[in-house]
Amino acid sequence: MADAPRASGQRTWIDIRAVPALTLVAAFAFCLLGLATLLDARRDAWNAAGDEAANLGRVVGQEISHTLEVLDLSLHAVIENIDHPELPRINPALRALVLFDRAAMASHLSGILVLDRAGDPLLFSRGGQPSGSFADRPYYRRHRDAASDQGLVVSPPIMEEWLGGPMLGVSRRLDDGAGRFAGVVVGLVRLEYLRNLLGGIALGSAGALALCLGDGEAAVRVVGSGGPASADGFRGCAGAREARAGPVTRTEPDGARHLDLVTRIPGTGLCVVVSLSAADIEARWWPRAWQIGLLMLGLFAFMAALAVALRLELRRRRQAEETLRESEARFRALAENSGDMVARIDLAGRRRYVSPVSWRLLGCSPEALIGTEALADMPAEDRPAVLREIARLRSGQTEEVVVTYRARHADGHSIWLESTLRVTRDVATGRPDGVISVSRDVTERKRLEMRLAEAARQDGLTGLSNRRAFDEALAAEWHGCAGRGRPLSLMLIDVDAFKSFNDRHGHLAGDDCLRGVAGPLRDAVRRAGEMAARYGGEEFVLLLPGTGAVDVARLGERVRAEIEALGLPHGGAGAPLPVVTASIGVATAIPGGLSEPSDPEALLMAADRALYVAKREGRNRVSQAPLPGRMAARI
Ligand code: GH3
Ligand code: MG
Ligand code: MG
Repeated sequence: MADAPRASGQRTWIDIRAVPALTLVAAFAFCLLGLATLLDARRDAWNAAGDEAANLGRVVGQEISHTLEVLDLSLHAVIENIDHPELPRINPALRALVLFDRAAMASHLSGILVLDRAGDPLLFSRGGQPSGSFADRPYYRRHRDAASDQGLVVSPPIMEEWLGGPMLGVSRRLDDGAGRFAGVVVGLVRLEYLRNLLGGIALGSAGALALCLGDGEAAVRVVGSGGPASADGFRGCAGAREARAGPVTRTEPDGARHLDLVTRIPGTGLCVVVSLSAADIEARWWPRAWQIGLLMLGLFAFMAALAVALRLELRRRRQAEETLRESEARFRALAENSGDMVARIDLAGRRRYVSPVSWRLLGCSPEALIGTEALADMPAEDRPAVLREIARLRSGQTEEVVVTYRARHADGHSIWLESTLRVTRDVATGRPDGVISVSRDVTERKRLEMRLAEAARQDGLTGLSNRRAFDEALAAEWHGCAGRGRPLSLMLIDVDAFKSFNDRHGHLAGDDCLRGVAGPLRDAVRRAGEMAARYGGEEFVLLLPGTGAVDVARLGERVRAEIEALGLPHGGAGAPLPVVTASIGVATAIPGGLSEPSDPEALLMAADRALYVAKREGRNRVSQAPLPGRMAARI
């Protein structure tokens, strides 16, 4: 329809149908972004843990390195002075003072022991002479079995009962001057000291720190916990060429994950293993991960719901549009193929759509009619009835009315249209939004109806009005005259001795006679509202609104004379003249007044009585009903 909005024709910068999918993609992208941010934060946490482990390893390593360095200085001092020629000659206390500096007295050190070629103790920094052979000790065997000087050697811890606990041996080889093995000088470091050193460092709930000794192939834990349980696991320590290898992630049999970092202490074969638990590393990350994860999930769910809702709504609209298009197409097909003119009229009374039948019906294009007022060209006399029907539609009394009115064809002639008006309602609100009018040309039918109506009110023999038409007109004119204070006169005309006319001339001639008598009566009617009717048989009546008593008497006389003047031969018994004559009774009333006759019937009876008087007085004459004195003065 011309005024139907065309939603599908509106262009937007984006295809609206793609919006739900795009919303989902955007939601998915948001989630991916959130996931990437989370993983990034987790990687940062692990990197920071790696740095923390490296720093810790370096600090602990430096501390131990420093301790061993100081001890090594003491070992060097022993090596340099042990061969002094004077040394065997001085007493043992003095000898200890010469060989062992104060560093050898440090609390973490149990003492420095000098062993001879056979592994027997020669000297001990803390005085006294340990008994027994030390040839089974790893620090001794290592130097003895090596072809060359091994430099500073740190040996795995060994229980030294005579010193009351396990000791780490830090040793150097003694030469006899010709490069041959002459014994070992070893600093015995309490394992207790190292345990305390490592034990004081906080490493979270499940972190650990260990000092390990790598001997090239395998490695042993010197002190502490943490790192892999098996020796194999220390390959990183044993094989580490660099001072610091990268962090390694390790999963224990129970599923717990750890970050291990091995920091080598250069020149000692020792390494510090820092082990941090994944639970500790990710302790601060997890709450954030939950928060962001839930937020993302919520956001995704919300956007997904939004996308689904949007999709459903779009589908609903598409279906509605489809339905609208279909119904519009159906409407057009109906409207344009119908023989009737279909028009849609809005609440303001303007045509919004007109079907092409307008060409045939009104001789003009639909475009010429669209936008014009539907009632604009309607004749004033048809308008009230149409407006009355439209008022019924507007008031909601009915949904459909049929109106008949005249319209003007483009070529100027007037036609009768019959329109069925049906209220249409807004689909969304249900409120009336106009009417659909289906109009057809009923000019022919109207003409026929009028002819029939006219025929129903006409006397078939004479062409004058019939009794029914007269009765209606009498009632109407009585009211009309009453409203305007005008007189109303009646004239009853009865053909004299008509029975004998029939008897003499035959019935057909009687009919001709009646037709002849009707002529002067028809001529007597001149003014609007006047009527000549056949009242029945050979009786006629003239209805004369606005005609007073004097004029009606005068007119009666003229009519009588004209009938007589027709000269229709009579010759029957009882006729006053040889030609056809008529007797006339007239009566006049002032309708609505107080005087008699006070109603149409009384007026008719008065005229009838006057006619009777005319008959009685000899026929072919006019008799007037008596007038009350007051009225006579008025008319
Ligand atoms: P009066 O002078 O007293 O009126 O006498 P009348 O003979 O005219 O009166 P009456 O009422 O006795 O007769 C009327 C006659 O009119 C009787 C009827 O045969 C005749 N008549 C009535 N209608 C028609 C008609 O349509 N055609 C013909 N030819 N005669 C009719
Ligand atoms: Mg009669
Ligand atoms: Mg008669």
